[in-house]
Amino acid sequence: MRVAIAGAGLAGLACAKYLTDLGHTPILLERSATLGGLVAAWKDEDGDWVETGLHAFFGAYPNMLQLMAELGISDRLQWKQHTLIFNQPEKPGILSRFDVPNIPAPFNVIMSILRNNDMLTWNQKIRFAIGLIPAIVRGQKYVESTDKYSLIEWLRLQGIDEQVNTDIFIAASKALTFINPDEVSAMIILTALNKFLQQKNGSKIAFLDGAPPERLCQPIVDYVTARGGVVWKQTALREIVLNDDGSVKHFLIGGLGEASQELTADAYVSAMSVDITKLLLPKAWQELEFFQKLEGLEGVPVINVQIWFDRKLTDVDQLLFSRSPLLSVYADMSVACKEYADPDKSMLELVLAPAAEWISKTDQEIIDATMSELAKLFPAQIPDHAKVLKARVVKTPRSVYKAIPGRQAYRPSQDTPIANFFLSGSYTMQEYLGSMEGAVLSGKLTAQAINTALESHLISSQTLGQTTAAKALA
Ligand SMILES: Cc1cc2nc3c(=O)[nH]c(=O)nc-3n(C[C@H](O)[C@H](O)[C@H](O)COP(=O)(O)OP(=O)(O)OC[C@H]3O[C@@H](n4cnc5c(N)ncnc54)[C@H](O)[C@@H]3O)c2cc1C
Repeated sequence: MRVAIAGAGLAGLACAKYLTDLGHTPILLERSATLGGLVAAWKDEDGDWVETGLHAFFGAYPNMLQLMAELGISDRLQWKQHTLIFNQPEKPGILSRFDVPNIPAPFNVIMSILRNNDMLTWNQKIRFAIGLIPAIVRGQKYVESTDKYSLIEWLRLQGIDEQVNTDIFIAASKALTFINPDEVSAMIILTALNKFLQQKNGSKIAFLDGAPPERLCQPIVDYVTARGGVVWKQTALREIVLNDDGSVKHFLIGGLGEASQELTADAYVSAMSVDITKLLLPKAWQELEFFQKLEGLEGVPVINVQIWFDRKLTDVDQLLFSRSPLLSVYADMSVACKEYADPDKSMLELVLAPAAEWISKTDQEIIDATMSELAKLFPAQIPDHAKVLKARVVKTPRSVYKAIPGRQAYRPSQDTPIANFFLSGSYTMQEYLGSMEGAVLSGKLTAQAINTALESHLISSQTLGQTTAAKALA
């Protein structure tokens, strides 16, 4: 069966890969010249990679790890020492580590918390541990029930004090969702914590050994095209054209400056972000409750900053939690990533979040503010010694869906009331939130949903689409 997929982010790519495995032929369209969507990157005039975002992989990413194993590229993940490292604003330049020992979960993570005395007092540790008991004992069901609270509200209900919030949860919340604990759903942070507590290497971090489009996305394209699939870059979905009964008749597609063409297939997928999917929804579908619920989801702004220095600032080979009000996580990619390695000069890659106030500022304003924060993180070198060679700012006004309380109810399934139309993307319903793992899992789920729909009807999806769509719109 031919399946047309709009969007070659990780969800669209994974969907194409798993459709290929199921014996179908994906036709994957990507609007941009670069693969990867939120993991896209491109070379600047000096040949240096500029990334949409600093991306950390976790041990608790089973679908991503399986995908990479299936592609034969697992060795491209550079696993770091099992530790979480935080800056200490009150002690500039001094790091605090949660070293996770090599013992079974959840004792390894608990031990790492108990052994860290920089950030939590014993009283705070005990309250924190008691607060986590329901999540550990009752598991994901309990965690999902906390989607009605913001993280701050949940912490208060558990009697966990504000200090734990400022020390740990602001950093976690900003890193996972690009928003602060007073906005983020408690469920998001508890889901991540639960995964870390359940799997021995769940909180272990890796970086890819180079730029995602080449090192992760291209192997998926090679896999798909070697098996008869097609990938067209610089080709956008322009319109979803419907049959009289509301099922998809064809996609209207085209490159910049080109006339539109019709693309017909047996099934159709939007693997575009939720914000763009909403814009391209045909009028006839907008009255369906399923699609109306998408209005409850919206991408959150985030900014990625890369700064090249004339010297080495650090030799820490790990992701760091800055605990700065402006910045979230960062890493020296000249140390942490093989392709960006430089023995003499640092390249810091930093995520600026929450970014709502900054998204309309100039690149120079963003770089200046980032440098002021870096002076607190590297007081021995900045501003007096290290010189900035160049800096790059990438703004994403709408990235992953904003994970505020109550959003679970708005996240759609991969199949829709239109039988020949499917959704894919990290915002769709899957257990891994708005992440690379979530995107890959959603792509896999979409492929399975399409296969089930096609197999169970054993007919051309043209007919399949018409019958169910007609029912949905009746
Ligand atoms: C700064 C930053 C840091 C991040 N850090 C991490 C991290 O450390 N760990 C982690 O797991 N996740 C991280 N994420 C989140 C992760 O990148 C995303 O969850 C994931 O990549 C989303 O993939 P997706 O396929 O669902 O969506 P997208 O990547 O948004 O893909 C959608 C695709 O659709 C394409 N498209 C749009 N319109 C059209 C059209 N009309 N026709 C055809 N194609 C179209 C887009 O160009 C894009 O390629 C980060 C994100 C950002 C921005």
